[in-house]
Amino acid sequence: MPETATTPGYNAYGPWLRRHYGGNRVFKVIVDAGFTCPNRDGKKGYGGCTYCNVDSFTPALPRSLDQIREQVLGSMKNARERYKADKFIIYFQPNTNTYAPVERLKALYDEALAVAPEDVVGLSVGTRPDCLDPEKIALLESYTDRLDVDLELGMESIHEETLAQINRGCTHAELVELLDSLADSPLSLCLHTIFGFPWETRDMLLAHADELNRFPQVKFTKLHHLHIVKGSILAARYKKEPFHTLSLEEYTDLLCDLIPRLRPDLIIQRLFGVADQDLLIAPIWGLPKSAVQTHIDREIQRRGIVQGSAYPG
Ligand code: SF4
Repeated sequence: MPETATTPGYNAYGPWLRRHYGGNRVFKVIVDAGFTCPNRDGKKGYGGCTYCNVDSFTPALPRSLDQIREQVLGSMKNARERYKADKFIIYFQPNTNTYAPVERLKALYDEALAVAPEDVVGLSVGTRPDCLDPEKIALLESYTDRLDVDLELGMESIHEETLAQINRGCTHAELVELLDSLADSPLSLCLHTIFGFPWETRDMLLAHADELNRFPQVKFTKLHHLHIVKGSILAARYKKEPFHTLSLEEYTDLLCDLIPRLRPDLIIQRLFGVADQDLLIAPIWGLPKSAVQTHIDREIQRRGIVQGSAYPG
């Protein structure tokens, strides 16, 4: 088994969190600061990535600092009452959370982190590789003297032709350049992938493992399967000309091939994507999230899959 893996045979985030924070129950508090995205507001493009749900985008309404505070307070209260949460990671999640001047970013992050500083152990910020600069990186790094800071980057595909086809507005080369510049950074990097674009072959999908392995500064990954959701460009294409999307069995089979190739120390934050059922068009797996997780975990166990067992490094 990989040194840090628990049963089943992959290095799962939940158990890692528990170990890393001394047995505390750590929850992510999601903050929606009202950011927009350069692939929508015209800086990079207007249509957005083809899988992105237009309808889920409220017009960019920057939140006041009071609103940020209320969000954090409400989520912490809920997590304490429902899940007996002890500690929190402040997670700036929706849209592009570094897409604002650095002074504005600092005000937002500071406000969220100040709500219950004694119980906050981390800051997590989701963004695109093309929405960072040395000043913003320095700001994020400035919090690492007291917190774990995760920078979550959309990689989606490592294949440039796919990124062009999905109108990503950002190349893999740009991500690689950023990763190289962060080789010695105290930030914990997380890369997000999407598997299942119909033109990507199995070999193209499995090649993601080598690319994730290539960067030791990447500590976390989120693996997702492609969703076709209402309001996306892909949904319109799918309606006109349906194409194959991954069944749960096919996706599980892919994971069982991919996980052994991953570095054993890479922590997997997510194994599959979760979409709002009201928006999801395909694939419909017909199971709640917990049942999907159980299905995948059982199959990983049944096959004796071990993360890192096929890692050449
Ligand atoms: S997926 Fe992310 S980067 Fe792409 S359009 Fe939607 S918010 Fe922007």
